Amino acid sequence: MSAFKTLDDLGDVNGKVALVRVDLNLPMQGGAVTDETRIRAAAPTILELAGKGAKVLLLAHFGRPKGERSSTLSLSMVVGAVEKVLGTEVMFVPEVTGPVVAQSVDILRPGDIAILENTRFWKGEEKNDPDFVKAIAENGDFYVNDAFSAAHRAHATTEGLARVLPAYAGRSMQAELEALDKALGAPEKPVAAVVGGAKVSSKLDVLKHLVSQVDHLIIGGGMANTFLAAKGVDVGKSLCEHDLTGTANEILEAADKSGCTVHLPYEVVVSKEFAANPPSLRTCNVHEVAADEMILDVGPLAVEALGDVLKTCRTLVWNGPMGAFETVPFDAATVALARTAAALTVEGSLISVAGGGDTVAALNHAGVAQDFSYISTAGGAFLEWMEGKELPGVAVLEA
Ligand code: ADP
Ligand code: MG
Repeated sequence: MSAFKTLDDLGDVNGKVALVRVDLNLPMQGGAVTDETRIRAAAPTILELAGKGAKVLLLAHFGRPKGERSSTLSLSMVVGAVEKVLGTEVMFVPEVTGPVVAQSVDILRPGDIAILENTRFWKGEEKNDPDFVKAIAENGDFYVNDAFSAAHRAHATTEGLARVLPAYAGRSMQAELEALDKALGAPEKPVAAVVGGAKVSSKLDVLKHLVSQVDHLIIGGGMANTFLAAKGVDVGKSLCEHDLTGTANEILEAADKSGCTVHLPYEVVVSKEFAANPPSLRTCNVHEVAADEMILDVGPLAVEALGDVLKTCRTLVWNGPMGAFETVPFDAATVALARTAAALTVEGSLISVAGGGDTVAALNHAGVAQDFSYISTAGGAFLEWMEGKELPGVAVLEA
């Protein structure tokens, strides 16, 4: 990981204006914020800057207004929730550039906080328009990016501003980059990756990148079926992308060449119908799946063997559940493997990093999310990082 500046590198910022990119793309229902996780993630950075006497202007996008003002997508709706989490008053400014912002800056006292309007109301945001960037920068002294989740986009407030103002990673961005570096940047070896989820097609680039990076690749979930089919296993009615068996074989060959051991389930949980506790539920060898059955989870003995693999590893990166975990009992493999990973982490023998929407839900369901070394809630940015892609919002901080 190249070096990037953090809040530790800030000089005296008393009275200076901080333009701070945060993630306020909050889940809402009926005009109310239903989950404050993203506000809590940004709070340390906001409060630290305010504590140092900066005037803090928060920049964020909300939804997809496509370059036009939209009354239902105004960030004014999140002000109350942000005030509640921060425990302090927050001003709302209905612009992101121009005299209204300048006047607001004059009104703010050192340590005060304001939220500017949804950056995506202006076309310049997603276009990373240099004039738009310059107009935002005119009202600020320095830039802090605390939104890793938006770092895979080269937008005005995620990338452009870092080119024209002194730029720093916020605390949440810093924690994410440090954790990801420990997992794949400069990891302690051996490294294991668990990749699961529904489809190979959505994670082809992830798989291709990982085989050259890790010592053990554990494949589970629906995507394992495509790999099994590629190896000539009859997977019956299972979710399977038969048109991708060639690609699956290429990935297996690439793994072989880089000395990466691929672990596919040899024992599976199957049923004839996809329902909770179905009457046709059974566990069998992967070669015994009937034509009218589908694979919905990894079997208990196979999961135990996978746990033994994790015991030989120092680092784990995990994306995607091992089975159709939303429906009992097809959550069993994901829960069991997650608990093993969590126990090894607590013991101090494993560094564990996980991410992905359903993965985070599955780890919460297993009750072990807090025991992992790091859980990324970044979604798309996390996946692009797992694909080995350079994230523009990160690269510009490291420049
Ligand atoms: P993430 O959001 O963490 O990246 P994905 O979206 O790729 O994960 O995959 C999660 C989905 O995969 C879940 O909805 C889960 O039910 C599904 N899934 C896992 N295993 C199977 C399987 N064997 N058959 C069908 N669906 C599966
Ligand atoms: Mg998903």
